[in-house]
Amino acid sequence: MSLPTTARVVIIGGGVIGVSTLYHLAKAGWTDCVLLEKNELTAGSTWHAAGNCPNFSTNYGVMNMQRYGLALYRDLGKEVDYPINYHVTGAVRLAHTDKRMMEFERVRGMAAHMGLQMDMCTPEELQAHFPFMETHDLAGGLWDPLDGDIDPAQVTQALAKGARALGATIARFTPATGVRRENGEWVVETEKGEIRCDYVVNAAGYYAARVGEWFAPFGGRKVPLTVMSHQYFLTEAIPEVEAWTRKHGRKLPMVRDVDTSYYLRQDTFSLNLGPYERNCQAAWITPDDAMPEDFSFQLYPDDLDRLEPYIMDAMERVPLLGSKGVSRNINGPIPYAPDGLPMVGPMPGVPNAFEAHSFTFGIAQGGGAGKIMSEWIMHGYTEWDMWAIDPRRYTDYTDPQYNLGKALETYGHEYAMHFPHHEWPAERNRKLSPNHDRLISDGGQMGAYNGWERANWFAKSGDDTSEEATLTWDRNGPWVDRVREEVLAVRDGVGVIDLCGFSRFEVSGAGAAEWLRGKIAGGLPKIGRMNLVYFPDARGHVLTEMSCMRQGEDQFTLMTAALAQWHDFEVLSKDLPLGISLSDKTKDVTAMLVTGPKSRDLLATICDADLTAGWLSHQTATLAGKTVILARVSFAGELGWEIHAATPDAVPVYDAIRGAGATPFGMYALNSMRIEKGYLTWKGDLSTDYSLLETNLARFVRLDKPQDFPGKSALQTATPTKRLMTLTVETGEQDAPYMAAVFKDGKRVGEVTSAAYGYRVEAAIAMAMLNSEATTPGTALQIEVYGKLLNATVQGDAPLWDPENLRLRA
Ligand SMILES: Cc1cc2nc3c(=O)[nH]c(=O)nc-3n(C[C@H](O)[C@H](O)[C@H](O)COP(=O)(O)OP(=O)(O)OC[C@H]3O[C@@H](n4cnc5c(N)ncnc54)[C@H](O)[C@@H]3O)c2cc1C
Repeated sequence: MSLPTTARVVIIGGGVIGVSTLYHLAKAGWTDCVLLEKNELTAGSTWHAAGNCPNFSTNYGVMNMQRYGLALYRDLGKEVDYPINYHVTGAVRLAHTDKRMMEFERVRGMAAHMGLQMDMCTPEELQAHFPFMETHDLAGGLWDPLDGDIDPAQVTQALAKGARALGATIARFTPATGVRRENGEWVVETEKGEIRCDYVVNAAGYYAARVGEWFAPFGGRKVPLTVMSHQYFLTEAIPEVEAWTRKHGRKLPMVRDVDTSYYLRQDTFSLNLGPYERNCQAAWITPDDAMPEDFSFQLYPDDLDRLEPYIMDAMERVPLLGSKGVSRNINGPIPYAPDGLPMVGPMPGVPNAFEAHSFTFGIAQGGGAGKIMSEWIMHGYTEWDMWAIDPRRYTDYTDPQYNLGKALETYGHEYAMHFPHHEWPAERNRKLSPNHDRLISDGGQMGAYNGWERANWFAKSGDDTSEEATLTWDRNGPWVDRVREEVLAVRDGVGVIDLCGFSRFEVSGAGAAEWLRGKIAGGLPKIGRMNLVYFPDARGHVLTEMSCMRQGEDQFTLMTAALAQWHDFEVLSKDLPLGISLSDKTKDVTAMLVTGPKSRDLLATICDADLTAGWLSHQTATLAGKTVILARVSFAGELGWEIHAATPDAVPVYDAIRGAGATPFGMYALNSMRIEKGYLTWKGDLSTDYSLLETNLARFVRLDKPQDFPGKSALQTATPTKRLMTLTVETGEQDAPYMAAVFKDGKRVGEVTSAAYGYRVEAAIAMAMLNSEATTPGTALQIEVYGKLLNATVQGDAPLWDPENLRLRA
C-alpha cells in the first residue's frame, strides 16, 4: 500500500486509543484520515493489557467515558463482524472500612445518575457473588454487573476493521519520524514519505513524550509523562475454578480488593492477580537507562518479589489462589500522567494538534476516548465536559522530577480514596507566593492550585494538622472552628487572602475592544471599570468566565482561575488578529483580597487610593510605597478590594495589610463565602455541560449586540429546560459532592455542581442544575449525599447573603 500524501487527520500510534480515534472519525464521515503505526497494531501497551473493563471511577466524566466505551464494545463485534472475547462477568469491590463504603455509595449514586445500576453489598452478598472469598473482616462492597474483561488486541483490531471498512487508512510498520508546519498545515514525516494534513494527534502511548518533543518548535511543551512498570501474573489452572465455571456456565466475577490494592480475576480456569504496589517502580528514567527506540511487543523482566505482600494478602482473601503455582508473569510499560488520568484534548500551545495518551486504563477507556478525541478534532468541543482529562490542566510547573514523584505517588495509591480536604503530599511547593513564609508562620495549611501554594486555612497552636486528619468525607475536621473564625473575622472586621497564581492576561492594540466583543456573550466595562465576561463555545455553553478590567479604549486586563491559565490563554489567543497583543502576566503580578466592613478603614491608613470610588471600579494607588492596582470587588461578598501588586512588591504590601490588622483567611473560608453569594466556580458550576442561559447567566448575554460571538445563534433559538439554582440543604455531616443527584418526589430532577457550608447564614448550601419543573423557589427536594437523602429547598434568584449587595456597595 502506498502512503497517502494528504489527509485531514494523521494519528501517530496504533494502540487502542489511536485506532478508536480513527474509528470514531470515520464513523462521523471523516474518512480521509490516516493512522501511522511504527510496528504492528497493539505493539505498545495494548497487546499485554489484562483487558479489565470497569465502569467504576470516582470522577464523573471519566466514568461516563467508560460507560460509553463499554456499551460500544458490547455491540462492536457484531457491528464490524469481528468476534471479540468480551466477558461481562460483573465485579465486586471490597470495602474494609465504612469510609470505603461511603466512597462506593457516592459512585453508586453517580452511576445511577448516568443510567448504570450498581448495588451496595453486604459481606454475605459479596460471597454469594464470589464464593471462594473470605469476607468476615469486610464492611461490605459494591457490585457492578457490567464490569468484565475484553481481549485488548481483538477490540483494537475490531475498531481497525470498522475504520478501514468506512474508508480510513491504517499504515502499519510506518513510524512517524517528525513533524513540521508549512502554510498552516502539518507535514508528518515518515520513513515511507510525507503526509500533509490539517490535524495531527499524538497517540503514541508510552512514546508520547518523545513524539511530543517534535512539537516544541511550534509552541509545544514537554509532555508530563512517566513510564511505570506494571505487572500481573496468571496461576496454573485451578480445578475448583474449572468446576465452578462448568457448573454455572460462566466465569467468576472479578474481585477488586481496593483497600489492599489489587484485582483478581479468572482467566480461562486460572486466576490473574494484578496489584498496584506502594513500592512501585518507574522505568527509563535515568540517562543510563533511556527508553529504547523500539520496545514493540516486549516486556520487562519478571519482578514478583515486589508483589509479594499483595500476593500473601490475596491468598488469605482467596485461599484458592495459593493452591497452584504461577504460570506466567506480565511486566509491561504503562504511561502515567502526574494524576494518573489520561491526556485527551488540544495539545497546549500548538495549533491543530491534539494529545490522546497517558492511559493507565486505556482498554476500559479506549472506546470513550476515541469519541472524545474525534469531537475535539471535528468540532473544537466535546459533548461532555472533559476537563478532568484535558492536557491543559498541567502547566509550566511540571518537570521530570515532579512527573516521577507524582507518578510514584499516584500508582502506589491507584485505588486510594480522594477526600475533599486531603492534599496529596508529593512534589509540593512548585510555585510559591512571595508571602509564602508569612503564610506558613501564620499557620497556613496549604493546598496546590495549578502548582501554586495557597493557604486553605490557618491553624492555631494545638490544632491537628496531620495528613491523617484530612482523610475524611466529613465537612468538619480540625479546620472547622478556624474556618468559621476566618469567615466571621471577614464578616465583622477585615481579612486578607493571598491569591497567588490568579491567571492574568493583558490584551491591547487597536481594535482589541471590538475583537473581545466578538468573543464574549455580553458587554465590556467602561474605562476605569471592571465586570465579568463570559466566553461561550459554538453551542452557547460556558467555556470560561474572566474578570475584565478596562484601562483604555483598547486596553484590558483579564483575570481568571489559577487552574484555567493555559485553557484561558488559548481561548484568548484563538484567532488573535495581527495588531492585537496578548500576554500572560500571571507570574509578574500577584493578587490579594482585602475584604470586610472595616477594609476601607484599614486601607485608608496604608494607601492613598480614593476609597470612595464605587463597586466595580479600579484605580492605581500607592500602598506601602509601592504602586498597586486596587479593584473594588470581593469574591467573599463583603466590602473589599483586590490588591494587584508587582510580584517583587508583594511582601511589603502584604506586611502593610497584615500590620494594619487584617486577619489572614484561606480558600475554605473564601469558598464558604462565595457560595453564600451565589458566585460560581470554574469547572464546578461553570462547565461546558451547560449553556449560559441554563447557568442562569442571561444578564451577561446580549443577543441584540451586532457582534456574532460564538454560540449566539444557538442562544437565540434555545429554550432552556434546566437552570442553575441555589439550594439550602439539611445540615448533614458531609457536603454534597459534585454531581450528587437531586430528587423531587423521588424523581431525578438534576445534579449538584458545588456545595459548602455558609457560616454567615448558618446553612449548608448547594448549587444545583435543576430541570425546570424543580426551579420554583420553595420547592422541596432531596439530595443524595454519600448514600443518604438530605432535604433541600430551592432558593430564589437573590444570593443568600446580602441579597441587595448593600455590604459590597457600602
Ligand atoms: C501489565 C499491564 C496491564 C494492563 N491492564 C489493563 C487493564 O486490565 N485494563 C485497562 O484498561 N488497561 C490496562 N492496561 C493499560 C493499557 O494497556 C493502556 O492504557 C493502553 O494500552 C494504552 O493504549 P494506547 O493506545 O494509548 O498506547 P499503546 O498501546 O502503547 O499504543 C501506542 C502505539 O504508538 C506506536 N508508536 C509510538 N511511536 C510511534 C511513532 N513514532 N510512529 C508511529 N507509531 C508510534 C507504538 O508502537 C504503539 O503501538 C495495562 C497495562 C499494563 C502494562
